[in-house]
Amino acid sequence: MLLSKLKSWSRKKSLWVFHVNTGSCNGCDIEILDIFTPRYDAERFGIKLVGSPRHADVLCVTGAITRKNIDKVKTIYDQTPNPKYVVAIGACAVSGGIVREAYNVLGGVDKLIPVDAYVYGCPPSSETILFALKELSNKIGEKTNER
Ligand code: SF4
Repeated sequence: MLLSKLKSWSRKKSLWVFHVNTGSCNGCDIEILDIFTPRYDAERFGIKLVGSPRHADVLCVTGAITRKNIDKVKTIYDQTPNPKYVVAIGACAVSGGIVREAYNVLGGVDKLIPVDAYVYGCPPSSETILFALKELSNKIGEKTNER
């Protein structure tokens, strides 16, 4: 009980993020990377970009789900340790966006894996992405207090 509270508290204080690009136009990706620059400095909130899903708490997904990337996204999701959170960033990841009618597009990320937060926009601003990650970390903290 105490250990699980401690784990949740530490997770709230240090959300490690893995960025998954399923084939976006790079607009959303640039906005994500911007939050880790000195201008926004997400690390001051404990939000850190990591190079492997095995080290991540949160998957930030950009781009729509297509038939070609189904296996890739599923594998990355399975490689992420529990408890894990998924944030769909940008219109393409939320609903398929501008390509949602295409023959090979399934739609948004939630067509394939559970999504915990949606960040709208094409692309969403860096401030919005940072706000969403901070809100997610606050929600994790609230869960800790409920226990
Ligand atoms: S939401 Fe807009 S900016 Fe983001 S990947 Fe799709 S088209 Fe590009």
